[in-house]
Amino acid sequence: MASVFYFQNTEFPFVIANLILACLSLATAIDYWPQNSENLSSKYGLSFCYAFIGISFLLHSAQGVELTGIATQNQLMLSIHQTAALIFVTSSGAFSLALAFEQTVAEHKEAAHRDPLTGTFNRREFSLRIKELLGDANHASFAVVQFDLDHFKAVNDSYGHGAGDEALQMCSDVMQWHLREQDCLARTGGEEFAALLPSIGKAEAFAITERIRKTIANMPLHFAPDEVRLTLSAGIYHGRGDGLDDRTLLKLADNGLYESKRAGRNKVSLVTSMRGEEPTHSGPLLEART
Ligand code: GH3
Ligand code: MG
Ligand code: MG
Repeated sequence: MASVFYFQNTEFPFVIANLILACLSLATAIDYWPQNSENLSSKYGLSFCYAFIGISFLLHSAQGVELTGIATQNQLMLSIHQTAALIFVTSSGAFSLALAFEQTVAEHKEAAHRDPLTGTFNRREFSLRIKELLGDANHASFAVVQFDLDHFKAVNDSYGHGAGDEALQMCSDVMQWHLREQDCLARTGGEEFAALLPSIGKAEAFAITERIRKTIANMPLHFAPDEVRLTLSAGIYHGRGDGLDDRTLLKLADNGLYESKRAGRNKVSLVTSMRGEEPTHSGPLLEART
C-alpha cells in the first residue's frame, strides 16, 4: 500500500532523487577541497563546481516539497536548474583538464628533486636545503652527515647489480626511518648518501648516525648467505656553519668519513671545525668511534 502511495505521488521520487544527487555532489565538493600539503589551485575550482550543482539539486529537491501536482511542470525552476547543469558541465570539464595538467607539472617538479632508485632527494636539492638553512640568520646548530657503504663494489661483483640496487634501497630506508621528519636525506653519489639534520645537538646527531650504522651492520641480506653483512662508514660535521658554504660543509663531513674509512670502516667520525675551509683530520676536534 505504502509503495503505491509513493509512486502515485511523483513529488516523492523527485525529492529523493534530487536529494541523493545533491548529497553526491556536495560530498564530491568536499573530497576535491585541497588538503594542507597540496598546491593544486584547480581543485578549488572543481570543488566550487560540485558545490554549485549540489546546491542546485538541493533547491530542485525543495521545489518538489513545495509543489502540488507534478513538480517538473514548474518551467522556470527547471530552466534555472538546466542552466546550472550546463555551467557545471563546461566549467568542471575545464577545471578537470587544468587539474590533470597541474598534477603532471607537480609530479615532474617532485621527480626533479629526487633520486629515482631510492626516492631520497638528489644532490642539487640537498645543496639547496643547506643554503636555505645557512640563509636563516637565526638558525641553530645543525649536522651534515656523509655516509658511504663499505666495499660496495664487492656486493655487485658477488650478487649482481640488481642485488646492489636492492641493498641501496634497503639502506636508504633504514636511514630515512632513523632520521627525524625535519631532516633531509639525499643520495649524493653511487653508494653515497648525505643527511642534513637541522637544530640538533652534537650528541644526538652522533647517536642517530650510530643507530643507522648499527642497524645496517645487523641487517640480514636475503640475497646473500646468513653470515654476510653490509656496513657503512660515516662522517658528521656539527656546528653552526658560520662562514661556511654547502660545498665546504659536505667536504668537512667527507673528512670525517675519510677518517672512518682510514680507521677500518663500519665507524662514525665527528668533525667540528672552527677553522673554516681547511679542517684537520686529527686533534681534539675529531672523534672516531666504533
Ligand atoms: P669503499 O669501502 O672504499 O667505499 O669501497 P667501495 O667498493 O664501496 O667503493 P668504490 O668506489 O670502489 O665502489 C663503489 C661501487 O658502487 C662501484 C659501483 O659499481 C657501485 N655503484 C654505484 N652506483 C650504483 C648503483 O646505482 N647501483 C649499484 N648496484 N651499484 C652501484
Ligand atoms: Mg664511494
Ligand atoms: Mg663505498
